[in-house]
Amino acid sequence: MTLELGKVSFVTATKTKEYLDYLEKGKLAGTKCKSCGALHFPPRADCDQCMSSDVEWMDMESKGKIVTYTTIHVGPTGFEDVVPYTICMVELEGGGRLLGWLDEAKEEDISVGQDVSVVLKELEGDRVIYAIRL
Ligand SMILES: [Zn+2]
Repeated sequence: MTLELGKVSFVTATKTKEYLDYLEKGKLAGTKCKSCGALHFPPRADCDQCMSSDVEWMDMESKGKIVTYTTIHVGPTGFEDVVPYTICMVELEGGGRLLGWLDEAKEEDISVGQDVSVVLKELEGDRVIYAIRL
C-alpha cells in the first residue's frame, strides 16, 4: 500500500510504516529515542543524537504557534496548479516543527506567534497534507 504525504510517496515496507498508520488515523506522530530521550518530529527511525534505532512512537500535540509563513505565487514542479498557497512553519506545543498549508484562511488573517491547530487533511488520490487552521 502507498500513501502520499503532499506529493511524496511512502511505501509501507520501511521503518516508517508506523508513521503511515498514524497518518491513516489522522494523527501527528513523532518518535522518542529510548536510549537518550531525544524527541524527533518529523519522526525518525534512527536517533540523530546517539544513532540508536531503539525509538518509540508517540502522539504529538496538534496545537502550536506560527514561527513564519510565506505565500507561494510561482509553484515548483507538481504544484503549478495550486498557486497561490500559503505555507506556515509551526512550532508544536510539545516540541517539534512542521511545515503546513494554511487552510480555510488567508495570509492577511495570520501573524507570527499566532496560535493555530494542525490537522491532517485528506486530498483526492489518498494524498494527505498538514493543514494549518486558526
Ligand atoms: Zn538517541
